[in-house]
Amino acid sequence: MTASTNGNTAVARHSVVIIGGGFGGLYAARALRHAPVDVTVVDRVKHHLFQPMLYQAATGALSEGDIAPPIRDVLRRQRNTEVLWGDVTDIDLESREVVFETIGRSERVSYDSLVVAPGAGASYLGHNGFAIHAPALKTIEDAFELRGRVFRAFEMAELERRSERRDPLLTFVIVGAGATGVELAGQLAELSRHGLKRNFRGFNPQDARVILLDRADAVLPTWPERLQRRARQYLQRLGVEVRLHSTATGIDADGVDVTHQDGSTDRIQAYTKVWAGGVQASPLGRILARQSDTTSDRSGRISVRPDLTLPGYPEVFVVGDLMSLKRLPASAEVAKQSGRHAARTIKRRVKGHSDDRQFRYHDRLAVVSVARFRAVARIGGLRVAGSVAWLMWFAVHLVRLTRFKHRLSALAKWTAMAFRRKRRQRAGDRHDLAADGEPVARSESGQSQRRLTG
Ligand SMILES: Cc1cc2nc3c(=O)[nH]c(=O)nc-3n(C[C@H](O)[C@H](O)[C@H](O)COP(=O)(O)OP(=O)(O)OC[C@H]3O[C@@H](n4cnc5c(N)ncnc54)[C@H](O)[C@@H]3O)c2cc1C
Repeated sequence: MTASTNGNTAVARHSVVIIGGGFGGLYAARALRHAPVDVTVVDRVKHHLFQPMLYQAATGALSEGDIAPPIRDVLRRQRNTEVLWGDVTDIDLESREVVFETIGRSERVSYDSLVVAPGAGASYLGHNGFAIHAPALKTIEDAFELRGRVFRAFEMAELERRSERRDPLLTFVIVGAGATGVELAGQLAELSRHGLKRNFRGFNPQDARVILLDRADAVLPTWPERLQRRARQYLQRLGVEVRLHSTATGIDADGVDVTHQDGSTDRIQAYTKVWAGGVQASPLGRILARQSDTTSDRSGRISVRPDLTLPGYPEVFVVGDLMSLKRLPASAEVAKQSGRHAARTIKRRVKGHSDDRQFRYHDRLAVVSVARFRAVARIGGLRVAGSVAWLMWFAVHLVRLTRFKHRLSALAKWTAMAFRRKRRQRAGDRHDLAADGEPVARSESGQSQRRLTG
């Protein structure tokens, strides 16, 4: 065992380093709170991001504080745990060290057990140039960026009297009709149909077009057919134009080029474009794969052993979106359960047990909310759609959101947000009065250019 980096402990305790304070990492850390180990959580941002609510922040329904509590604050009562703000750049599996860049310097922290939970980013499927014009929605900066673009488009439309110039400003294109794309399309439609009522004089926000594109033949392609149809109906009732078998082949400042299944093409003039087309696991996966005898799948997810360890390195656990095991989906629930499983194995080993258990995923609720009182849900073999599914979505998010926060205030705010349609969170937009046509603050890789931002 190595000496702990925590406090002044005289006796070296088992040291656990956790990379990432997202769902996998945070739930691993919390499951270790009473264990006789020293835990170090390293994250390149200071907050735990509740990604399933990002689109609510992007459309002005929730604020940053609602969905991104500080990791340090969440873990404040956990005396065996320290939180370090740093961007992990390397993992040395032989010397058991994690290297990270932090405020102006490079640091190392050694481990006896390592939990790798850095999640995934957006994948532009080889078209990295799209990132400049169509941001993805993965980080809190992404949500601000998108919020800025959306409200700026409405403000610009208010100043524009010529309809041929105003229409593209009021056209919103979302590329990718998976869960994120569907939820975002629903939110943008609700925002324009209800949230901005009577806010503008020069046009009616209800005239805004929301277009959802996907090259697949259905929305929510991995979901049961009946729920796909219901989700599509809900979107269409909100006025979302769902265009399937349609691939975005070009995205620039003024719009999107689309190629259809029969080879025909067309162009959508649109100021605001959002990418919800794919994900790519953290580059830390490549670092692990290079040093171990491990394979990764198309999205860069690392194949792990059934107990979630890296082949050849039983002290290294890979959890959450970076882990590939039995085609489990990249979801918050998988991340939480896998993080907890890694923590349990570490606790058992510290107690002297050597019979590691396999990870068993308990398939709980999966739910996609399209609009108020309109959602689709799977619970094991059960399929539910409509207001019952929406109430399930509401309840699940209520429990998750209030877990790390002041429960009463979070409960009141979330309930008001979910049942009313007002969008009051419109501040914090860096691009408000910039003169150029399109706000650009992103690198071509689609990643935020700012590092070590809270
Ligand atoms: C818009 C959106 C909506 C979603 N909706 C749902 C939903 O409704 N239901 C559902 O189940 N799932 C949903 N998901 C998926 C779910 O959020 C993820 O599957 C889950 O967050 C994965 O957890 P994780 O711990 O693996 O990664 P994350 O939660 O992404 O956490 C990774 C953490 O690691 C940190 N990190 C990354 N790289 C480094 C590094 N090099 N150094 C230090 N720290 C690093 C990050 O800052 C982050 O805090 C959604 C995702 C998105 C983007």
